[in-house]
Amino acid sequence: MAAVKFVIIGGGPAGIEAAATASRHGAHVTLIEREVIGGAANLWDCIPSKAMIATGGVRSLAKRSKSLGMELHYESPDLELLRARVASISEQLSRSTERQLIGQGVTIIRGTGMLRDDHHVVAVPEGDDAEEIILEADAILLATGSTPRVPEWANVDGDRVLVTRHAYPPSVIPEHLVVIGSGVTGVEFVHLFRSFGSKVSLVISRQQVLPQKDPEVAAALETDFLESKVSLIKGARAVSLKRDDESVSVFCEDGRVIVGSHALLAIGSVPSSSGLGLEHAGVMANEAGYVPVNQHCQTNIPNIYAGGDLSGRLQLASVAAMQGRKIAEHVVGLHTRDHRHLDYDKAASAIFTEPEIADVGLAEAEAFALGQKIRVTKVPFAVNAKAMIDGDPRGFVKLVSDPNTGVVLGGSIVGAHAAELISVIALAVHANLRVDDIADSLLVHPALAGVIAAAAE
Ligand SMILES: Cc1cc2nc3c(=O)[nH]c(=O)nc-3n(C[C@H](O)[C@H](O)[C@H](O)COP(=O)(O)OP(=O)(O)OC[C@H]3O[C@@H](n4cnc5c(N)ncnc54)[C@H](O)[C@@H]3O)c2cc1C
Repeated sequence: MAAVKFVIIGGGPAGIEAAATASRHGAHVTLIEREVIGGAANLWDCIPSKAMIATGGVRSLAKRSKSLGMELHYESPDLELLRARVASISEQLSRSTERQLIGQGVTIIRGTGMLRDDHHVVAVPEGDDAEEIILEADAILLATGSTPRVPEWANVDGDRVLVTRHAYPPSVIPEHLVVIGSGVTGVEFVHLFRSFGSKVSLVISRQQVLPQKDPEVAAALETDFLESKVSLIKGARAVSLKRDDESVSVFCEDGRVIVGSHALLAIGSVPSSSGLGLEHAGVMANEAGYVPVNQHCQTNIPNIYAGGDLSGRLQLASVAAMQGRKIAEHVVGLHTRDHRHLDYDKAASAIFTEPEIADVGLAEAEAFALGQKIRVTKVPFAVNAKAMIDGDPRGFVKLVSDPNTGVVLGGSIVGAHAAELISVIALAVHANLRVDDIADSLLVHPALAGVIAAAAE
């Protein structure tokens, strides 16, 4: 049987995982990417933001170093070194992924892709005199991701008025940064610039940071922000912004004005669907430009799939990659014997603030809203030996389980290394393990994971 011809537009987590999986299963794969292999996740989002947050962590270590018995002195970050570090991590990741894909036989075209019809993709390679390539495809994946939302009123200039893509790092450390948007990205940038020594104000349109999260988790982060003198401006919807040579003024709907040296917008993203030629193949997008998909990530045209941010599902690199894998399995026909649908409700996610926040599955507040009976156990890190040893006993583990069966339904962690620790609970939620399965595991001592075991007992 001839190999399936699979063409992928966009080399972010969804595109590269689909390419790797499909080629492993014998498909003939072509991947078109116009920026870097690894996508926005690698160049603009997950990787650079976390690389900078890691650098900021030096300051917090320095702050508690005296209590650890060896005092360190913190200097401001060296922006040139930081720029080089961020670029080098992103480049290394991109190169190794590219090498791996080429080694597996994936053809990579550097350029822009668009649909010509439901079985053909046009690739316009980089370079002035490069000629268009027409690719025939049995299956096509649209994985073009998203870009930061930039409202017209904001007059973003990349100098004093920034979006996240201007911050890796900015040309100067802002003296006073006004962050607009209190979702995951907004609070991570509050934490990041606070750790670089900026004064930070956060404009919050509701009454709580992280409006989608468990209120107790959000409250823990707010407490930490307030302790480190972040101004929280609640119930404030930014509607316009003015800058002059030295300052930026953010005007809110209710008349409040917040003045800082710089502003950073973190108010969501828009899908990269324009110019993709959706209309040439009859692929439907919704009003916002996202491409709706079914449980196999097929669009309304069955041999055309959409994955990652473009599909409008959970906007996480991990989800995009898992969609990519499931799409590839579907394309090569594996779903008929071994396909498990992706359960978005069981996706773990993390917020790289300090303390870190991570959660998975059912949250206590959500169960309450649904009227679902649950058992909740909460154990603070303050009782854990390793947290004391590390000098950072902030936060807690909260475990949500079924009171009748003991099956773990979800959990939240606030505290050091929460993003790593949540994996234990994520595995339990994914595999329908019971609290006893966690409590009976022989874990390491002393370890932060001991708090998860204690919550399970
Ligand atoms: C600041 C920030 C931090 C984040 N941190 C995290 C995190 O820590 N963890 C996490 O899980 N998620 C994080 N996310 C979300 C995550 O980055 C996205 O969910 C993820 O990148 C989506 O992957 P994707 O496969 O849709 O493609 P993307 O990573 O968006 O990449 C899409 C690629 O398609 C290419 N492309 C677009 N159009 C075309 C075209 N016509 N032809 C050819 N190529 C094209 C683009 O150049 C791009 O490389 C963060 C987001 C932001 C904004």
